[in-house]
This record gives sequence, C-alpha cells and structure tokens, in this order.
Amino acid sequence: MNSIVALWLSLFVGIGAAACRKGDGTGDATSDSDAQALANSGYAWPGARVEVCFLNDSNNPAAKNIVKRALDVNFTRSSTTIEFFGFSDCQPNSKAPAKILFGVERAFSTYIGKYKVPMNTQRGETVGLPVLDDQFYFYNTVIHEFGHFAGLFHEAHRLENRDDTLCKNDPKNNGIVNELPNMAPGLRPVAMGAFDRMSIMNYCVQGYMTQFLRLSDGDTKALRALYSKAIASAERTIANSPISQGQDAASDPAVMCNVMAILPREISNVSAGGYNTHTSDGSAVFAYKDESFLPANLAGTLPVGTVVSRLLTKPIYMEVMGSRGQNLTAMQVIPQSGPLQGAKVWILGNVTVVTDCRDK
Ligand SMILES: [Zn+2]
Repeated sequence: MNSIVALWLSLFVGIGAAACRKGDGTGDATSDSDAQALANSGYAWPGARVEVCFLNDSNNPAAKNIVKRALDVNFTRSSTTIEFFGFSDCQPNSKAPAKILFGVERAFSTYIGKYKVPMNTQRGETVGLPVLDDQFYFYNTVIHEFGHFAGLFHEAHRLENRDDTLCKNDPKNNGIVNELPNMAPGLRPVAMGAFDRMSIMNYCVQGYMTQFLRLSDGDTKALRALYSKAIASAERTIANSPISQGQDAASDPAVMCNVMAILPREISNVSAGGYNTHTSDGSAVFAYKDESFLPANLAGTLPVGTVVSRLLTKPIYMEVMGSRGQNLTAMQVIPQSGPLQGAKVWILGNVTVVTDCRDK
C-alpha cells in the first residue's frame, strides 16, 4: 500500500498547477458555482481527438483493453467532447500523441493537454502506466493520467488551496511556486467552478489514491467547456468498442455501479483480531466511521438488501487479515435506508458486492 501511495503522490507532483482567481481575465474562469476543475482552454487539443498507441505490452494482456475501456467510457464526444482513439501498437515514427509505455515506476503524462512538458523518457513514451496488477488502481490511474492529457491539472493545486484549507493531505502542495515551470508560457490554469473533491485529479482527500474510477461530473463539465471552444462542429459516430463485447462485466471496473445493495453472502466473513466484515449470522455487514476499521469505530450494521450509494472505493491491506487483505476493497458509502441512513460510513467488501447494481 505504501508503494502505491507513493506512486500516486508522485504522479506529476510538479505538474498540477495553481490557479488564477476567477475573473482575473486569464483563461477560462467561469461564473458557475458548482464544482469543476483546474484547467485552461489554451491547452485543448485541436479537433478534440487524440490518437493513442502502445509501445509495449504490460505483463498482463488485459492491460490494453482496460486502457481502451477506461478512455472509451470516460471521454466521449457527448460528455467531455475530447475523445481518444486508435489503441493499436505504435508503428515506427508514429504520430500518435499518446504513446503508452507500461511498467514505469511512477505513472505520468508528459502532456497537459497539448502542451508537452519537457521530461526524460525511456522510449519516447508520453504516458507512463504501471503494469496491470491491481485493476482498480490501474484503471483509476489511466483516467487520471489521461485527465492530464486532456488538459486537467491537479485539483488540489488551486490557488485557493495554497494554505491547504480545502484539503490537508498533500504535503507537497506548494501551489503555483512549484508549478510554474510546467505550464505553457502565459497559460495559467484557472479554477473553473468550485473545488471538486470528487475530481479524478484530486488526490488530496482522505484516501487520495482511492479509486474514484471515473471522471467526476465536474471533470466532465470542465472538459466540455474547454473543448466547446476547440471544435466547431464535430458529430462523429463513435465506433462501438469491440472489447466491451464478450468481456466479463463482473470483472470490468467500468461497469461497476455506484448504487448497490449489500450482498454479504457473496464474500466470506473475515474475522481475526477483532475485525469482522459481517455479523456472525451473515445478516448484515459492519459499517465503520473511518477506514481504519477498528472495532472501536464501529458505526453500526447494514442489513442485507440495504441500498447504498458508493462514494469511494479503494483496495485495502490489513495485516491482521494476512494475504486475504490484499483482495479486500474498502468502500465509503452512504446508506439510503436503515439506522445509518445518510451517514458516510466505510464497509469492507469486494467487487462482488456490486453485483446487485441499482444504478438506473
Ligand atoms: Zn497527476
């Protein structure tokens, strides 16, 4: 877990830039009061279509499909306007802007939108991704890095957060001082709308490397605003993704839903050192006040069938659970019924908990 945290922290720590105040005449400040993003349309790719290719294979053959899936789901003509296409192996002298190399030590994007940040790379890659190990971490990282590629900066690096008043878990957030060298000259990103805690670009929250698993509504809205200026009219038929067919939906993070019912029978109870996921009769799962899952912080129980809205999901390792800990997932949810209705609580679960999806 520590290595993953370190990875996430180091993702372009120098890149996420600070913002100008709204209305200072620089960039795209909007007057919307809702949460959006830190960006500037000056970074938008012309045509709003960016080709992606692969320089190598991941150790896991599923990695390429997951990259394509993550981008197809999150970046569409109708939602973000900007979209990614291609996803074949890079040919020699390929002109594809997004050249992916799997297996780098720290994930990165050398582009913020169309602005290329000077950076030493191994094989001419412009996007570095980890090998596919933990699919949630991997999937989340793909969306985050291509959020940069689309033109988004780190949400936590808004100028208004220079004193860590919006989120305090980012010791390296020195705002604009550190970020200036990484911006296109004269193009500071602008705080569009309000701070977006749920942004895929915001790692400055409790469990900042948690698996948001999607662009937030604010991210999507901001990108659409950026690219509405970048293209005149582009009605395209987006080809159906061949990889989305015949794939096991249950193992596909992209189809994980965010409103689900508790199905504790799907996972075996873990009980060691005082930790339990379920009540002993399996009729309910335990809900905790925080992600420490300490018995002292038990908030209550969620009976089978309780519908919950998922806020965050993250892989979790708990020493007391031994090797099983690595396969567990911590989820922050809001129960929609029962004694804990409306509370933010944490449950230990796994992807199988979402099989009773209630979205839509
Ligand atoms: Zn980043």
